[in-house]
Amino acid sequence: MSDWNKRTKLVHGGTRRSQYNEVSEAIYLTQGFVYDSAEQAEARFIETGPDEFIYARYGNPTVAMFEERIAALEGAEDAFATASGMAAVSGALTSMLQAGDHVVSAKALFGSCLYILENILSRYGVEVTFVDGTDLAAWKAAMRPNTKAVFFESMSNPTLEVINVAAVAQIAHEVGAIVVVDNVFSTPVFSEAIAQGADVVIYSATKHIDGQGRALGGVILGTKDFIRGTVEPYMKHTGGSMSPFNAWVMLKGLETIDLRVRAQAESALAIAQALEGHAALQRTIYPGLASHAQSALVQKQLGGKGGTVLSIDLKGGQSAAFKFLNALEIAVISNNLGDAKSIATHPATTTHQRLPDDQKKDLGITPGLVRFSVGLEDTQDLIDDITRALATAES
Ligand SMILES: *Cc1c(COP(=O)(O)O)cnc(C)c1O
Repeated sequence: MSDWNKRTKLVHGGTRRSQYNEVSEAIYLTQGFVYDSAEQAEARFIETGPDEFIYARYGNPTVAMFEERIAALEGAEDAFATASGMAAVSGALTSMLQAGDHVVSAKALFGSCLYILENILSRYGVEVTFVDGTDLAAWKAAMRPNTKAVFFESMSNPTLEVINVAAVAQIAHEVGAIVVVDNVFSTPVFSEAIAQGADVVIYSATKHIDGQGRALGGVILGTKDFIRGTVEPYMKHTGGSMSPFNAWVMLKGLETIDLRVRAQAESALAIAQALEGHAALQRTIYPGLASHAQSALVQKQLGGKGGTVLSIDLKGGQSAAFKFLNALEIAVISNNLGDAKSIATHPATTTHQRLPDDQKKDLGITPGLVRFSVGLEDTQDLIDDITRALATAES
């Protein structure tokens, strides 16, 4: 399998067949596994072989198929599947950190990631320094001898800043810190994060991996040592494992992710190009546009691919943004992303509502900002829907 290209790995990677030789992967919807003898049960608790299982919280064949397939795609040695993206973020961090450790994190984060870093870790004696993720001098200045980890979203939500994985990794590795990247917006299709220096990569599988808005899931990718030595003991005892049914949904999602994400990204670029300079808009933010602040980095880090999400800032502020959202006929108002259905979100009043106004302002979450996750609908239909809704918002 190791010499297969990504698209082949996505279809066949990790497949395990039962005695029935089914074509489509089976869902092993079972909590436990029967041992042939008391001796076998004892042996399995001493050492569990690669295709041996004890209890679904520890591992399951369907979950193992998903873990192997996504690890093959990402180029990681191993993976641990989790109940949600947040179980992956909290599991990766809390399994490795202890009181007295220091973490440096980018400040532009998904709301729940920010909650973990700002509110939870400090309760357990872990100190966190927040930096502007695009400012390499700030990363460098924040490092300390006890900096155990750095954390950032390689492409931030909702303002789509792109952080230089290779450069931050180099700075972090100088003090021996582990580089943890939440890679959701970059997507597993365009990511080369491990090759670029990330030690641990995290996805919310709820987004592009499912891709059809059905199930929650997440995954932590890294070295075999880190996944089986640090993450697994923590996750299997604290209960954040992925369910077999959700693993099956995600496994089947991987078979089509390359086609879906490439089509969605192509559409996102066409929409961003059509909207750029529109009279109702203050800004059109899309990492694939030449006008994006880190466009050179997007070329280098993501092969020029800007992902499936764009953000627009309406000149008329919140009231224009609300009129725009309410006038959309194709895109739905919701807060997921990476779905086959286009989804529009008003971050200031929903996903980032909790943040104080000055923090919103600092992060660029203005009252007019709308995040638009581009789905699999016809591109021209989406452009027409958006431009019609913008006209309504202006009137
Ligand atoms: C959605 C998301 C998460 C959380 O994932 P869930 O599956 O909702 O728990 C974490 N980070 C980023 C960047 C996300 O977009």
